[in-house]
Amino acid sequence: MKIADHIEMLELKVPMGGHEMVIHPVVIYADHQAVLLDTGVPGCYDKIIEQIDPAYPVQSVILTHDDLDHIGSFPQFVEAASGTLDVYAQANDADAINGNKPFSKAKPERVNMVLEPFPESIQQSFRSVFSTDTPDHVNHVLQGNEVLPFSEGLQVIHTPGHTPGHTSFYDIASKILIAGDAMIVENGELHGPNPAFTLDMEQAINSLRAFQKLNIEAIVCYHGGLFKGDIQQRLNEIVNHS
Ligand SMILES: [Zn+2]
Repeated sequence: MKIADHIEMLELKVPMGGHEMVIHPVVIYADHQAVLLDTGVPGCYDKIIEQIDPAYPVQSVILTHDDLDHIGSFPQFVEAASGTLDVYAQANDADAINGNKPFSKAKPERVNMVLEPFPESIQQSFRSVFSTDTPDHVNHVLQGNEVLPFSEGLQVIHTPGHTPGHTSFYDIASKILIAGDAMIVENGELHGPNPAFTLDMEQAINSLRAFQKLNIEAIVCYHGGLFKGDIQQRLNEIVNHS
């Protein structure tokens, strides 16, 4: 679904540890390439690619954090890249994405359970990309206050709490905030992060204060999709009453 001239919000129905969920990776079309924000669960590569304009090869992948439902198909994008893939992640989660330390939340048993339904090839590439035996794939380690050179600028906003390296992105041209899991949309309403999956809830709510300084036209939540409406009023309610 096109949500701005140069931005597409994808919609994917995916299996995740025994149930089904809908997720929303985002694509920014910039300078003859597609910049993909988050890669779904393992096995999503084809479903993602078929929703992207084939005139724009995926040359950049931005990972909002190191949860399995966001990094799951990253190994397939690494394998499919002709030439170097530009990979962006915040410093605190980049080590895990590089395979140099455990994921923020997913324990090895959880990883096994999520991978189990998938073909051996997908399991193998997952284990190999996220291992110390392969080179580090994050070649752009973010701190959290940069502006990336996509379209008129993509502002990086470090929003720790859900994971230590969780990061959101604000597209300056469209005023669209790609919130990752910093917020969710449920039954048409915007909420703070899901406490069941958030490592440090207090920090996560505090991170939302950065959004209060922005002029936001619309928010894309990975879980729940697009939210428009009085975003600042909702942010006030969430920040002040949580
Ligand atoms: Zn998630």
